[in-house]
This record gives sequence, structure tokens and C-alpha cells, in this order.
Amino acid sequence: MELAKYTYEELLNRNNELQLQLEEANDTIEAIRSGQIDALIVKGDDGHQLYTLKTADQTYRVFIEKMNEGAVTLNRDGVILYSNSRFAAMMNLPLEKVIGLNFETFIPEISSEKFKGLIHNGWNEDCKGEILLANKESLLTPCLLSCTTLDLDEGTALSLILTDLTNQKEAEWELKVKNEQLLAAQNAAEKLNNELEDTVRERTNDLLISREHFKLLANNIPQLTWTNLPGGDVDFYNLQWYNYTGRRYSETAGWGWQQIVHPDDLSNTMDNYINSLKTGNPFEVENRYKRWDGIYRWHLNRAVPLRDDKGEIIFWVGTATDIEDQKKEMDRKDEFIGIASHELKTPLTSLKGYLQLITSYKKEEVPPVVKQYIEKASVAINKLQRLVNDLLDVSKIQAGRLEYPLGEVDLSELLGFVIENARHIYPQHEFENQSKNNLYIIGNAERLEQVLMNFINNAVKYSQDNKQVILKTTVQNNIVRVSVTDFGIGLSEAQIDRIFERFYRVEDKKFMTSGLGMGLYISAEIINTHQGKIGVESKPGKGATFYFELPLMR
Ligand code: ADP
Repeated sequence: MELAKYTYEELLNRNNELQLQLEEANDTIEAIRSGQIDALIVKGDDGHQLYTLKTADQTYRVFIEKMNEGAVTLNRDGVILYSNSRFAAMMNLPLEKVIGLNFETFIPEISSEKFKGLIHNGWNEDCKGEILLANKESLLTPCLLSCTTLDLDEGTALSLILTDLTNQKEAEWELKVKNEQLLAAQNAAEKLNNELEDTVRERTNDLLISREHFKLLANNIPQLTWTNLPGGDVDFYNLQWYNYTGRRYSETAGWGWQQIVHPDDLSNTMDNYINSLKTGNPFEVENRYKRWDGIYRWHLNRAVPLRDDKGEIIFWVGTATDIEDQKKEMDRKDEFIGIASHELKTPLTSLKGYLQLITSYKKEEVPPVVKQYIEKASVAINKLQRLVNDLLDVSKIQAGRLEYPLGEVDLSELLGFVIENARHIYPQHEFENQSKNNLYIIGNAERLEQVLMNFINNAVKYSQDNKQVILKTTVQNNIVRVSVTDFGIGLSEAQIDRIFERFYRVEDKKFMTSGLGMGLYISAEIINTHQGKIGVESKPGKGATFYFELPLMR
């Protein structure tokens, strides 16, 4: 066409016409692609011609256009004859720009060899392989390339289907990372497990050693030994227990040991045992256990709890020590004291009588110095008599024969009398009377006086540096408390726990004074038989308050 022959308007018209033809052509191509038409009339040099599209192809064209994979058709030179929209999108190009390009445009250097091989094969037989595609920005996309030949009217073409493997690769990568993490976690778990196994092995070994250690110890001490659970069931006895009782484990395990306890001691033993289980306080009781030959022997039982970090009791460890021989010795001693004090009493009484006779002898004037001797002898005899009486009381208590009549006692009157007596015996001391009037109780005045005199004697004995002694009564809930307070050496808690025991004396050389440790034992027994309570409040160096409590008469 010679453009110069046309005027400007003609050229403009011509241009518009061509523009329209181009748009028409694009629409037609789009219509064919999307399967909207299957025949078209084309105006050619030979006039209008009808082109029909094979109807069967239409379905496939729709499929190909809609599918998720890229689809292209190449000629022998590798030029793209056809591409679906998906492939153009994958390569980030408009569709019309893709058609006519050589496919190798999209093959990066790294995949070049492989691509050539696949294409070469593809012309001969169907084949597949993974390659990388590069878009216009050189971004790489991993793809699965499938080749197959197509027999078209125009000749044979090579059809390529390109599946985007990005997601799959990412998934594979993630899987790989996850697998690696899993493997690392597995290794860590295995390591931990091995360490745990080592620790368990070590602990088991420690436990074994400590158990064997305990058994060895338990089986080689002369005492009977047991362990019991927090609920009371015994779960272990040492060899001595089996040798002593002649019983098998099953016979005395749990609570079976009760059959071995002397019936007379069982109730007291059970009370103490159950109380310790409830409170967690150490268990201590004396009772008789039956030996294999049926003979009962006295034992001192002691058990202490083993606690965990939280203070919960895990189990108790107990021992029973044979005290039969000591008990017999004590009995013999008591018997001896009983006889000796009895034997002493008679000559003492006549000695006292003769002294009184001498004192009242009127025929001749006794020289003053002899009078003095007689007075001193009287004091000594009185002291001796108190001692012998105490000894007699102790043996009576032991024999369960400390008996006395009960009657109405005016406590205020008794206290007044006791204080007067004390002032007479200990003129150096200062006795303060803080008692109230009209306090009547049921009791034995002589025995209560004995208790008060014991308190006073001790208050004087153990407070040489401070001469003040207070006697006081207080009433609460119809109970009267009578107390004797001194400001002397005082007592520690451990000593307080034991001072009411028979013959107990504080072993402190510094403060040792005369005495046999009988006074408080007798006093406690007297108050107990009065159904009262005896006690002491004291701190070392801070003096002591000894008291007893009795119910008031209505
Ligand atoms: P003792 O004849 O030895 O005094 P007790 O039975 O009267 O016997 O007293 C027992 C022990 O209690 C005494 O040896 C003493 O150590 C202690 N004790 C008693 N009273 C007091 C007190 N007021 N202050 C300090 N210690 C005391």
C-alpha cells in the first residue's frame, strides 16, 4: 500500500477500520478460546469463507483454558503456537505476548540441558521431568514438565503441560524442616530418657544400699525393731522380733502384734499408739510382750516418725527394749526401801520419844548447852523422820497403797497454817500470802499440807540468792489453783518434763543440794489421787511456780 496516495482523512478512516478489524480479530480469538463459537466466516481475497472448528475440540479447549496447569503447544523450532492463560500468568506476561515466543526464553541456564533432553525425547515418546522456569523478572518457578506429541491438521506439534511445583516444594521443604525438628526432638527425648534411666538406676542403687543398711542395722541391735505405716499397720520386723515371739511375719504384721501384748497392758499401749498416730508425737510406752515360750517380759517401746519434705509422715521406726531385768531390780529396790524405811521407823519413834522425855525432865536443871544439843538433835530427828516418811510413802505408792481419808478442807486456813510453819522453819525467807478466803475443797488436809511443804522446801532450797516466796490462790471456772512462786535458779523444759518422776534430780553440780528426788513424785501422786492437776511454769534463772489445781466445793 502506498500511503502517500491517501489524504489525511482517508488515512484516519483507514486506521480506524484496521483498529476495528484488530479488535474484531481479538474478540474472535477469545471467542474461539473460550469455546463460545465453533464456526466463523473470514473475508479473504476469494470472498467470504466459512471455517468450522471441530466440535469435539471445544470441550478440551474449555478444559485446557480452565485447568490449573500451564499448557503450551510448540512447533519443531520450539516456537509457542498456543498457550493457555494459566501459562501466561505463570510467566507473568499477557497472553498475546507469549504466543510466537520461543519456549527457551523461559528456560534459565541451570535447566537448559535438562529441558533440551526432555524436548528431544518428547518428540519421540511421552516423557516427564522437573525443570525450572524463569519469568520476565527472572523469578524461578519449579515445574513438572510433561511432553506429548499432537497430530494437528497443520502437522505434528509438541504439547507441554507445566505443573507449578512451588506449593509442593514448599510443602516438601516444610516437611523436611519439620522432620528435622522431629528428629532433633527425638534425639533430645532419647538423651533425656537415657539420663533419666541413669538417675533411676543410681537412685535404685542408693535405695537398695539404704534399705540393706537399715536391715543390717535393725537385725544387729539387741532391741526388737519394727516399722509401721502412718495408718498404724506394721510392715517390717527385725530378726530379733521373730526370734523372741516365735511367730511368722503374717501372724504379727499389720495389727497382729496385739496378740503378743499382755492383756493387762493392751489398752494403755493402744491408747498411746493411736494418740501418736493421730498427733505425730513420739510413741513411748512400757508393756509386756509374750515370748515364744509363753513368758511375758517388760519392754520399753519407742517410735518416731520419718517425714518427707512437706512434713507428711512416711513411716514410723520403732524399737522395744527389754527392761525386765531393770524392772526386777527396781522392784527389789522398792522392796528394800519399803523394809528399810519400816525398820527405821520404829527406832526413830522411840528416839523421838526419849528426846521428848529428856526435854520434859524436871527434876534437875539441864545445863543450857545440853538444852541446845537436845534442840539440835530434835531438828535432826524431825528431818530424819520426814525422810523415812517419804521413803515409806514411795513404797506405798509403788504398792498402790497410798490411802487416806477425804473430807472438807478450808484451803485458806490450810495456807495460813502452812505459811506460819514456813516462816518458823525458814526465818530468813520472806513468805507473801496472796490467797483468798472461803475456798473449800474435798481432800486430805495433811496430804495437801505435805504437797505445799514440798513446794516451799524446794522454793527455799533452789533460791538461795532471792528470799522472796509467794503463795497464791486463783479461781477460774470453779477450779482453784494454789501456787508457790520463787525467784531462784528455775528449770529448763527438758528438766520440767522429768521432775515428777521417782528419784529424779537435776544433775547440775552447781546447784546440787541435799534431797533424794522423792518430794515432787509423792506430791504428784497425792494430787493425782485427789483427781487434780499438778504442774510447773519456769525458765532457767527466772525462778519457778509450782502449782496444783482442784475443783472447789459448791
Ligand atoms: P529433791 O528432794 O531433790 O528436791 P524433788 O522431787 O522435790 O526432790 O525435786 C526434784 C528436782 O526438781 C530437784 O532435784 C530439783 O532439781 C528440781 N526442783 C524442784 N523444785 C525446784 C525449784 N523450785 N526450782 C528449781 N528446781 C527445782
